[in-house]
Amino acid sequence: MKKIFGRDLAIDIGTANTVFYRAHHGVVLNEPSVICINTDSGAVLSVGSDARSMVGRTPDNIVSIRPLKDGVVADFETAQKMLRMFMEQVGMRRLFSKPTVVVAVPPVVTSVEHRAIKDAAFAAGARKVYIMEEPMAAAIGAGLPVQEPMGSMIVDIGGGTTDVAVISLGGIVTSRSIRIGGDALDAAIVGYIKNEHSLLIGERTAEELKMAIGSAYKSHDDATARIRGRDLVTGLPKDLLVSAKEVHAAIEDSLIKIITAIKNTLEETPPDLVSDLSRNGIMLAGGGALLNGLTDRLRFETGMPVNVAEDPLYAVVNGAGKCVENIELLKKILLPEQK
Ligand code: ADP
Ligand code: MG
Repeated sequence: MKKIFGRDLAIDIGTANTVFYRAHHGVVLNEPSVICINTDSGAVLSVGSDARSMVGRTPDNIVSIRPLKDGVVADFETAQKMLRMFMEQVGMRRLFSKPTVVVAVPPVVTSVEHRAIKDAAFAAGARKVYIMEEPMAAAIGAGLPVQEPMGSMIVDIGGGTTDVAVISLGGIVTSRSIRIGGDALDAAIVGYIKNEHSLLIGERTAEELKMAIGSAYKSHDDATARIRGRDLVTGLPKDLLVSAKEVHAAIEDSLIKIITAIKNTLEETPPDLVSDLSRNGIMLAGGGALLNGLTDRLRFETGMPVNVAEDPLYAVVNGAGKCVENIELLKKILLPEQK
């Protein structure tokens, strides 16, 4: 077979992270979905990790924005700008001669916004642009048999949202998306530390705490972590030793919402597919899938097998990447309006 040069791209614009995948190469960009803008001039100052390091540290006339936060594309023009900057960063115009681009978007993105995403990709030099839904991309990336007449469940826990979908015969049978994801867990930790210890910590600190000692299962271990924040009484910096049990208590309400979304989706799934699911189980993707104890907790709550995709943070882009490498597969699972 003739060697195929990977000039085509798959893109996952997540609420927390944006990932680019170059056909037959793999991931070529992985950056936080953050853009930093000067509000006086409208100029883009930075995107990605550079912009992220400015969050909470900017003067009045500079804002760092997560344009896709909560999975709602609140500020679409900003999202478009960010996408354009990332496309420039990977040298799309230079490296790729008129690539085909597949962009995975959250299910809540409207068709008007699809148009805007396509326009951004065309402006950056794409020849053809396809839009696919993230749950489908995640399922393909996780290796689920999406085209078989058999139910598969994918749960993608991102920063802003958790998307639950049951897929069969190349289509989404039932799905739901809730605005609870990793960000909500971080915010809950900030709230807990404030209420219980009168200590104000930033969301980045809360996220680090979650990754270090957070657990979805009532923790029996005695893990602790030391954090630093501002004492709300004295206004001065203060250290605090936090236990895994406390972090668990902080995130439990949000976890229950995620579990409920999964159970509700199961209830709406046709019986024959449910019996497939009870055999094949639930596949987890997204960064939230990495939370300690989550698979055990979900097994306990649903009585079903639970697995984590091989590269949960890359499941969506790997799935979109498989599609850009195999246009026949792509055409079978595209949104109806694009077929
Ligand atoms: P999105 O698709 O919305 O951009 P991602 O799939 O990139 O989101 O996941 C980002 C979320 O995953 C963040 O909220 C982050 O805190 C969380 N996350 C990443 N690694 C871990 C971990 N080891 N434990 C718990 N949460 C994690
Ligand atoms: Mg995602």
